[in-house]
Amino acid sequence: MQNLYFDNAASTRVDPRVLDSVLPFFSDNYANPSALHGPAQAAHAAVEEAREAVAELLGAGDPSEIIFTTGATEANNTVLNTFPGQILVSDIEHPSVRTAALASGRAGLIPVDGSGVVDEDAYRAMLANGAGLVSVMLVNNEIGTVQDIDRLGTVAKEAGARFHSDVTQSIGKMRLCLGDRPIDYASLSGHKMHAPKGIGALWVRSGAPLEPFLLGGSHERVRRAGTLNVPGIVGLGMAARLIIDEGEQDAERMRAQHARIVQEVIERIPDCRLNGQPDGAPHIISLSFFRTEGESVIINLDAKGICCTAGAACASGENRFSHVLTGIGLPEEWLRGTVRVSLSKFTTPEEVDTLIAALEASVSSVRSLAEFPAR
Ligand code: PMP
Repeated sequence: MQNLYFDNAASTRVDPRVLDSVLPFFSDNYANPSALHGPAQAAHAAVEEAREAVAELLGAGDPSEIIFTTGATEANNTVLNTFPGQILVSDIEHPSVRTAALASGRAGLIPVDGSGVVDEDAYRAMLANGAGLVSVMLVNNEIGTVQDIDRLGTVAKEAGARFHSDVTQSIGKMRLCLGDRPIDYASLSGHKMHAPKGIGALWVRSGAPLEPFLLGGSHERVRRAGTLNVPGIVGLGMAARLIIDEGEQDAERMRAQHARIVQEVIERIPDCRLNGQPDGAPHIISLSFFRTEGESVIINLDAKGICCTAGAACASGENRFSHVLTGIGLPEEWLRGTVRVSLSKFTTPEEVDTLIAALEASVSSVRSLAEFPAR
């Protein structure tokens, strides 16, 4: 049975062109780019070409503002670690920001409204008490809410705080132009943008402070020690280049598919709601089915070869409710019936047809078989 993959917010297929670009750096040129010989210099040149592509994708001022990391988790932790004082993060951040910030013992959680948008009054009041850093993600990975980071960044600047945004879920979905915006740091991850896992990047605006998280050699201008992951970096660069060239058309297709899924599911399945904003990110659709066990729907869909997720993939398997769904105040009878569908540039119209029909059948089957458990 072929899998229909609707879990692209958790991870994406490596683009075949990215794979082709990466392979020579495993088998033909495996040199350490820090060395002085010819192959090392060729590897170094490939790394710098990738850095330029990532900088261009983000709209950074200069490629030297890009630091390659193992992913968004490392990039996020590096920024948070740089600030010894008070940190403010939104209540619906990815755990690599929220949990890391709370672990520091110096974090405040900025509340959000029912669609996941940061409560600006509460934000201003918290900032008035002083903070060194604010971190608010551009696109939420569970419900697709898009934050007004220009506004939030401006407010942070006025209060004298630096501003970081985890832009992982926005890559390939919207144009960023970060250099022109009131933002100091941004994090991204390769495996959410059709590059391999284990590679990511941190953008640090020139002049913004950064404490290295990993100490050792003087790689990445002494900002991140460790031998560079040349194949990963080359793959990230190729993925960035493809988004620069094709991202707009890809995002448009995803937005149309998003609209079709939402419209048809809401029309065809009773007692169903869309979480987040109606015009949120083009690839994430969070649906809740009233008094219906979401995990049973996921298992039912999986038996039909369809991959979706109940709540966030990062939190699944843990016996607690998603902090994002509780953060937006979703009542438990809806919250437990939440299914996330996430699209990619590879999603086809036929797959969307199959998904809609399967979702209707699975929800109906779960509702007919199982009494919603009382608590
Ligand atoms: N931030 C967001 C918004 C994410 O969706 C993810 C991946 N779930 C991460 C950070 C972590 O990225 P990585 O897997 O590269 O550490």
